[in-house]
Amino acid sequence: MMSDDCLFCKIIKGEIPANIVDQSKNALAFRDINPKSPVHVLIIPKEHIASCRDLSKENIHYLSEMAFLAQDVSLKEKIAQDGYRWVINTGINGGQTVDHIHLHLIGGRNMTWPPG
Ligand code: 5GP
Ligand code: ZN
Repeated sequence: MMSDDCLFCKIIKGEIPANIVDQSKNALAFRDINPKSPVHVLIIPKEHIASCRDLSKENIHYLSEMAFLAQDVSLKEKIAQDGYRWVINTGINGGQTVDHIHLHLIGGRNMTWPPG
């Protein structure tokens, strides 16, 4: 199911352009419009799942597909060996601004901890 008023559903449907890096049957990878590191790719399910809070037994397989696609992209982008970070912001305190679950794959520089 897609959501008519969701930005990332519109990217999946091709209604809004995106710099697509890779995809699998149920997941899509595209470059973040406002990158926070030399490599900053967003990995989303091709199904409207609003956030981590909406994961369930029925849709959890999308998270595995996102993880495998993120692995493939990390190899293609040549950040696998040096390492990278996966981030999934959730809700207001998590800093989520787009309500379609997305995994940030960020790499190409050294990260600090803890995050802000
Ligand atoms: P969040 O803050 O929800 O974890 O991450 C949302 C991300 O989506 C942000 O990093 C933001 O730069 C990115 N973003 C917002 N609008 C667009 C867009 O229209 N296209 C792309 N490619 N990225 C977007
Ligand atoms: Zn959506």
